[in-house]
Amino acid sequence: MTDKARGKILEEALLAGSMEVDKGETASYIPELSRADKHDLGICIYTRDGEIYEAGDSQKRFTIQSISKVISLCVALQHCGFDKVFEKIRMEPSGDAFNSLLKLDMTSNYPYNPMINSGALTVVSYLMPIFSFKELLDYAGKLCLDPKIRLDERVYNSEMANSARNRAIAYLLQSKGIIECDVERSLELYVKMCSLSVTARSLAGFGLVLANGGIHPETGERLLDREVVRTVKTIMLTCGMYDGSGEFAVEVGIPSKSGVGGGILSVVDRKMGIGIYGPSLDKKGNSIGGKAMLKYVSEELNLHMFAWEP
Ligand code: GLU
Repeated sequence: MTDKARGKILEEALLAGSMEVDKGETASYIPELSRADKHDLGICIYTRDGEIYEAGDSQKRFTIQSISKVISLCVALQHCGFDKVFEKIRMEPSGDAFNSLLKLDMTSNYPYNPMINSGALTVVSYLMPIFSFKELLDYAGKLCLDPKIRLDERVYNSEMANSARNRAIAYLLQSKGIIECDVERSLELYVKMCSLSVTARSLAGFGLVLANGGIHPETGERLLDREVVRTVKTIMLTCGMYDGSGEFAVEVGIPSKSGVGGGILSVVDRKMGIGIYGPSLDKKGNSIGGKAMLKYVSEELNLHMFAWEP
């Protein structure tokens, strides 16, 4: 396919996404996020042969939010190992909202998976004794092929001032012996990771590293082990789009992780990374325009992981 044809598909995807944005709302439980313009929309594709295609607000900065859970999981698997990470965190979709405490307290003593808040707070508690925030920030910059990633202090402060629910989850985890280090410092590190400012292009870069089996696409440096990447992509497919993961897997068929800042990280295995920005969210917390754009692109470029190759 020519560059022109790919560019045209992205413009059409943007149009498909823009028809949806009025049906959603920006996240409001973190006050600073509600200030985003819900009509913003951007998409970036970064292919394995080094081409970048983008449309709309693909270089606008926004906070990574839940997508940081993928970064933390990568780092934890890489440095603490699979057995430690999954000793007290399960690998199952929860079917509940990302910040729910229900099943954690009533039916399971362990977080359902590392993509919901209870699981991610646990993962970050494993990282806290070994990594400083600065080291994790540098890691994020490397994995996203974007050295400009910074902490968005306004969003960080806004979330810390409104973190009763995450604090409750973190203390519940401590009461069950799952978080064993300082709860407040783990919470702070978790919220800092959620407050990294990225672009759709940075997410496409991260998607490409994952699509490329953990190898930096330009330098050839191995950033993550193959097994780490395989685990992370599988969990993104089953648990990455909140309690809308099943429907998204059927309709779009691309392992993805979304965040309430409006970002989506998507990995088309062995082919490309896709990054999305669109802060208008559906009821489950997924970018409403972003989902429409990914569905369009998946169909037009035949990217569904179970698509029949003609
Ligand atoms: N910082 C947000 C929280 O923990 C992230 C939620 C999300 O993006 O799903 O509530």
